[in-house]
Amino acid sequence: MKIAIIGAGLAGLSFALTLEKHGHSADIFEKQKEIGFDIKLAQLMTPILHGPVDNMIQFLSENHDIHLKPTTNIQKIHVHSPNESAFAEGKLGFVNMRGNHKEAYEKQLAEQLVSSRIYCNHHVTYQEISKEYSHVVLASGEPLDTEQIQPFKVEFTSTFAGATVKGNFIRNEVHTWFDTELAPKGLVYFLPHSETQASLVLVYPQYDEKMVQNKERLWTEAVNRASKTLNQTLTIEENFSIRDYVVGKCDYPRIGNTFFAGNCFGAIKPFLGFGQTGSILSGIYAAQDICGLGDYEKLCKPLYKDYQDSLALRKTVESLNNDQFDLVTKALRVKAIESIVTGRHKKTLKILSQFLKPFTK
Ligand SMILES: Cc1cc2nc3c(=O)[nH]c(=O)nc-3n(C[C@H](O)[C@H](O)[C@H](O)COP(=O)(O)OP(=O)(O)OC[C@H]3O[C@@H](n4cnc5c(N)ncnc54)[C@H](O)[C@@H]3O)c2cc1C
Repeated sequence: MKIAIIGAGLAGLSFALTLEKHGHSADIFEKQKEIGFDIKLAQLMTPILHGPVDNMIQFLSENHDIHLKPTTNIQKIHVHSPNESAFAEGKLGFVNMRGNHKEAYEKQLAEQLVSSRIYCNHHVTYQEISKEYSHVVLASGEPLDTEQIQPFKVEFTSTFAGATVKGNFIRNEVHTWFDTELAPKGLVYFLPHSETQASLVLVYPQYDEKMVQNKERLWTEAVNRASKTLNQTLTIEENFSIRDYVVGKCDYPRIGNTFFAGNCFGAIKPFLGFGQTGSILSGIYAAQDICGLGDYEKLCKPLYKDYQDSLALRKTVESLNNDQFDLVTKALRVKAIESIVTGRHKKTLKILSQFLKPFTK
């Protein structure tokens, strides 16, 4: 077998690592001049709402010999609506770094490779690679690359505005804001990197260009709201902006000897846009298939199922107005409801959709 991976991101590198554990190796092509995209960004990996295991770091280490060090263990997630606040407490997952940060997950994965080679500065196409290799893994993080080979159902595209902010933070507390004036059909979130640095991000879907007339005003509002909640003036260090970020899924995880992994497969859960867990798992599953240890399509089935449930929840949440967000946030202060949200019940997404239904009336 001559195996090529397009993209040294979470899916591609998890694929390569799993392959190596079973005696194979791959050539990995990465368009950037080094591992990690060109912004510094904190991301969240939480079992809340999107399992599949309580502790993904432990699960990867014990079951797949893949070792990741997060930046922070999250102990509290605050939810803010226009006039209410609530929080959930407990072992709520992890914050980790991505992109050009020295502890980015993609860099941590790349350091664990032994026999595979990474060719940085190689922007390759599926067409040229598939001529040279018997097996190709498309893990470029770009669903539009999948679309050139097979149908990819785009659910929506998103705009992000974000920055690294400086201040004095509690490093294991995360904040989220749901407010249609602040992020129409989206949200603002705050993930600390340390006691002094955090990522503040505004994200909303691009359903209709008229929905957001002035992105700069929204971003200014997001910074002001976060400053007010955190009771301090935030210093903006590095801004970033992303448009047309695709959320959707492909029809076939595997076609012949081509495997679609990570975002190219459909690893992003539509509700909050979490894609790290699905990307790593899809990479592992694709490698298990090549090594004769499973069937990629079958292994991916739970990911597809979660995708659908997450999409249904998103649609429900998108239909809420600000008064309804206030009611839901107030309800989250009731312990029993908080425990549904943070619970590890297999049907959490479905239960939550049901729970939210009365609020949408
Ligand atoms: C702003 C933002 C915030 C997010 N926050 C979260 C979060 O908090 N939690 C979460 O779980 N998920 C989050 N996500 C989603 C998550 O980042 C992705 O789902 C995940 O990184 C996808 O992994 P991947 O391996 O498919 O792609 P990536 O990790 O993006 O890797 C793809 C790699 O392929 C390379 N590449 C692309 N094209 C080519 C080519 N033609 N040739 C060679 N190399 C190529 C790229 O440079 C990149 O290194 C966020 C996404 C964004 C944009």
